[in-house]
Amino acid sequence: MTRTLLAGLLCFPTVLAAQTRAVGRPVAYEIAFPNAVHHEAEIKATFTGLPARPLELRMSRSSPGRYALHEFAKNVYSVKAVNSRGRELRVLRPNPHQWNVVGHDGTVTVTYTLFGDRADGTYAGIDLTHAHLNMPATFMWARGLEARPVRITFRPAGPWRVATQLFPTADSLTFTAPHLQYFMDSPTELSAHDVRTWTVASGGRSQTIRFALHHSGTGGEFDAYTEQVKKVVAEQEAMWGELPRYDNGAYTFIADYLPYVNGDGMEHRNSTVLTSTRPLSAAGFGNLGTVSHEFFHAWNVERIRPRSLEPFDFEEANMSGELWLAEGFTSYYDDLFIRRAGIYAVEEYAGTLTGPVNTVLNAPGRRFFSAVEMSQQAPFVDAAASIDPQNKANTFISYYTYGAALGLALDLEIRARFPGRSLDDFMRRMWTKYGRTERPYTLADVRVTLGESVGDSGWARSAFERLVTGREAPAFDSLLARAGLLVRKAAAGKAWIGDIEFRAQDTVLTVNSLVLIGTPLYEAGIDSRDRLVSLAGRATTTQADVDAVLSGLTPAATVPAVIISRDGRRATTIRVAESPRVAVVTFESAGIPVTPAITAFRDAWMGSKVKH
Ligand SMILES: [Zn+2]
Repeated sequence: MTRTLLAGLLCFPTVLAAQTRAVGRPVAYEIAFPNAVHHEAEIKATFTGLPARPLELRMSRSSPGRYALHEFAKNVYSVKAVNSRGRELRVLRPNPHQWNVVGHDGTVTVTYTLFGDRADGTYAGIDLTHAHLNMPATFMWARGLEARPVRITFRPAGPWRVATQLFPTADSLTFTAPHLQYFMDSPTELSAHDVRTWTVASGGRSQTIRFALHHSGTGGEFDAYTEQVKKVVAEQEAMWGELPRYDNGAYTFIADYLPYVNGDGMEHRNSTVLTSTRPLSAAGFGNLGTVSHEFFHAWNVERIRPRSLEPFDFEEANMSGELWLAEGFTSYYDDLFIRRAGIYAVEEYAGTLTGPVNTVLNAPGRRFFSAVEMSQQAPFVDAAASIDPQNKANTFISYYTYGAALGLALDLEIRARFPGRSLDDFMRRMWTKYGRTERPYTLADVRVTLGESVGDSGWARSAFERLVTGREAPAFDSLLARAGLLVRKAAAGKAWIGDIEFRAQDTVLTVNSLVLIGTPLYEAGIDSRDRLVSLAGRATTTQADVDAVLSGLTPAATVPAVIISRDGRRATTIRVAESPRVAVVTFESAGIPVTPAITAFRDAWMGSKVKH
């Protein structure tokens, strides 16, 4: 990010000279929590050495790794600005996100109150137990001063420690960042959390991994969990061949597993925020999956970075056509590493493939958009809020799910076609070319690198045309069979009208979900919020009535139905079908022999890569 910012400045030597002088003057922040019980923070920011023009202060509209707009200015109030002598200055409001401070003497100190009661990867969560701060949601910044270093002092509301990727100073509550992009990328948790620390020697250097955990569980649970995290970290390091060079020599997991947080995971250059309402005692693999996902992002997206996201724009939504790779491949690998670490059994790992395989084979969205085009819709779906109904269940497939399915398909196709090669080779090549060097990549770079990693650019071009820019479904049956995994119908021989959610109230049965294209209900002209009065001559007032009718039918049946829609009462005919839904299971559980070739394939694909 620095790189691009400085490259921009180099085009204008006079600007650069002015910036070089100004760069030395840090922007100084202070944050305190005198009213933490009511979720407020008091923030002070001082800007010095200012040119003689209005100071443009902004609250961000977006946050790194989150692609919808979030309008963080909405929780800011009591804004006041003073000059170097403490005299109050005029503050203008040119737009909802900005405060222009006029008539200053080269120094401006702005103070404001922030309300924040959502602890996750995007917002700020403040209460008597912690201040969980995502920087774009918390701190105003000044246009034109983005290259200046940042210095921040935290004033905790209790005996709180600081977990952050910011650079430490001699004062345990004061930290620095080299510039605004890094500061905004550095979420910080202040709380009485526990920490586990270990070192990993890799790539000719030794770096620290820290896991800071704010939770209500026991130290023993944390110890056991840390052992699992260590295994996942080791498998990832083994695949890539080295850890990234963390800017401060350490990577920090910042986790809040508490009932009053909002579940999330958010990647950053040298840290991640992990929030979950599941305590360690009840988490199963859910929390570990997010650990694996976000840690992988330190390579894939933080350093192997699409040009479309560089530098991150805090004033607009950020659109990228590469999220199928940045997020989707990360989703493919997160579960694979848990399997390689020996924590998932093969059957459990197969179960994790059911979701992506099913969605990409059966969801109607693939008729409308490719994986690239799905990625470009992130600003509408990534924690975006709207009040009007959307047709997304019909037209959209998450780039996480779509990309995970493509990662799986490409990995298996490479392993089948190019003996000794795998998607791991492609990822390592992306790392060497674009990650270690931090040279942002384009979609064309991905296609070329895929070809290089298998020594066949023609195959890579066709794979791209079929699966990435095209909308073909991968041949999962044959691809997974090599690994002794079976794709089979999940409800074979059963009559089905669609995966419909009904609402039953006062003997009225209403369609309560979007009706998907291609399902029997859709083809019969029945829509969301229509009332199903009867099916096959039987009155339907509950979901059980529908299930009872279906259980007496074969998938080839045609039955009459009566509905009440917006246009009144209507008789129609439903051609029921067999659900296309599939499940991925092991050959073992399906009673199919597992050959030595299958065992060898599985070992190469999902066996541990850590050299003991
Ligand atoms: Zn992700």
